[in-house]
Formats: sequence, structure tokens, C-alpha cells
Amino acid sequence: DNEKLSNPQVTISVIKKYDFSFAKKFGQNFLIDDHVIKKIIKAAEITEKDMIIEIGPGIGTMTQYLAESAGHVIAVEIDQRLLPVLAETLAPYDNVTVVNEDILKCNIEELIKEVSAKMGMNVTKENIKVVANLPYYITTPIIMGLFENHIPAASITVMVQKEVADRMNAEPGGKDYGALTLAVKYYSETYIAANVPPNCFIPRPGVGSAVIRLKAFTEPPVKVKDEKMMFRLIRASFEQRRKTLKNGIGNANIPGITKEAVDDALREMGLDENIRGERLSLNEFAELTDRLIG
Ligand code: SAM
Repeated sequence: DNEKLSNPQVTISVIKKYDFSFAKKFGQNFLIDDHVIKKIIKAAEITEKDMIIEIGPGIGTMTQYLAESAGHVIAVEIDQRLLPVLAETLAPYDNVTVVNEDILKCNIEELIKEVSAKMGMNVTKENIKVVANLPYYITTPIIMGLFENHIPAASITVMVQKEVADRMNAEPGGKDYGALTLAVKYYSETYIAANVPPNCFIPRPGVGSAVIRLKAFTEPPVKVKDEKMMFRLIRASFEQRRKTLKNGIGNANIPGITKEAVDDALREMGLDENIRGERLSLNEFAELTDRLIG
């Protein structure tokens, strides 16, 4: 491992060689700790049959480890300045495809099809895994985007801010509970694999981090008539934290859904009409949705 980028000396010499300056706007904090990387690889339960989607490879630090354990790695990186660096650091691996795209705009399903056809790999959902040390400025849109587009992946193992990991893992009633919690609960089973201090990165982030694995359910844990509507209602309920659920949804201008209808539905469910969104479980949001759309 001494010659790998997880060795801080190697990372520093690569950064110097390419005169690379870290872009804050891209959330660039590169890992320099092989223990942490090994924990991520272990949590992701990677096999030789797997196709890994890595979001933001940076200079390729984790990519080197992913390439050694997976069948193939597709690494999607937005910063074109990193392409020549990756060409060098990943040169020893013949099972990595680097794609210079914005993950929020990229058609991941199409990409997987193209690459697996080219490589002659036969991949099913079980063999597709997302692994990333995420750029923190867009963690929520990335995770929500993967879920809402029903990306075919068995699991998503990511480094996120500690506070975001807590939100993903929260229970009803607390301050961490919100739209992200409910999306994660609807789609996956969570497992916090590690807490990671700032000194494992260069440059050091201003916050603590955590590695969380989200294992996709084959069937959602609750049944709801209209999943998109449920998430619209959830978002509206948490839009203004201090407002009651009734006012949040009432003010969202969702066609056909009035404050009065919310009132009635809550009463029928035996809930207080002034209840706030953070008190409702996923089950209750599903029931509320079904009642509101009739
Ligand atoms: N994986 C590397 C590591 O662990 O050392 C780098 C992680 S760094 C926290 C996040 C990476 O995501 C950076 O390389 C950054 O340029 C890239 N990135 C930021 N926004 C992105 C986007 N919208 N699409 C793809 N990559 C992005």
C-alpha cells in the first residue's frame, strides 16, 4: 500500500507534479488513510463480479482499491483537470473507465449498459454498487437522485458529513428527522460503517465524516398508491420546520389537496390536527397519502 495514493507522501507528490489546486466548489477533500478506505471497501461487500460506480474519483485514491476488488469500475469525475492525473494513477489497472461528467446530469443506467457491453460483462442489479467519498455540497441531491431514478444498484456505500449520516439514520421526533430520512427509509436499510475524523483527508474538511451503507430493499417496506405524491407531501411537510404539517402541505399548492382535506385525514388517522411532520412515521405518511388521493 506504500506506493498507493493512500500514502500521504504519494498524494502530495502527485499534487505537486500536476501543480493541482483543490477546488472548493467541487468539494475536493482527498482521502489519505488506507484504514478508512479498507473499511469502505469492506462495507461495500465488493466481489469480482461487481460493476462499481464511483462518484468523484479525485486523483484515484479509492479507485485503486476498488479496481483491485471489483470486476470493473466506472469513475465519474466532473473536474477535467483531474483526467491527466487519473490517466497516470490508474494506468496499472485495465478495469477502470473514467468518465468526465457531472453525476447529476449523467444517465447512469445508459453508462452501465455501454460499459458492460464493451467489457463483455453480464451485470444484474445484484452486481451493481455505488461507492463514493461524496462531494459534500451535493450529497442530498445525489442520494435523492439515485433513489428517485430507481438506479439499478444493490447498495450505495458513501462517505458523507457525520451530520448527514445522522439524518439518514434518524428516528421520528428528533431534529435530524426529515425528508432525507424518509427517502432513505423507503428505499434502503442503513448501516453506519465508520466515523472518520478530518485528519484522514487533504485538505481537512471543517466537519466530521461518516461512512454509511444503504442496502436497497427489493420491496419497499410500506405500500403507497402514489410514491411520487408521497414524497411531494413529505417535502412540503418539512419545507418550513416550524409549521404544522397541515399548513406545510396546505401552502404547497398541490392540486386537489387542501388544508381541510389534511385536517380530515389526520382526524381519521387519530392524529392531532396540529401535528408536525417530524412526528409522522413512514407508515403514517403512506397512509396520509392514500387518504388524500382517495
Ligand atoms: N474519491 C476521492 C477521494 O476519496 O480521495 C475524491 C473525493 S472528493 C470528496 C469529491 C470528488 O467529487 C472530487 O474529485 C470532485 O471533483 C468530484 N465531484 C464534485 N462534484 C461532482 C459532480 N457533480 N459530478 C462528479 N464528480 C464530482
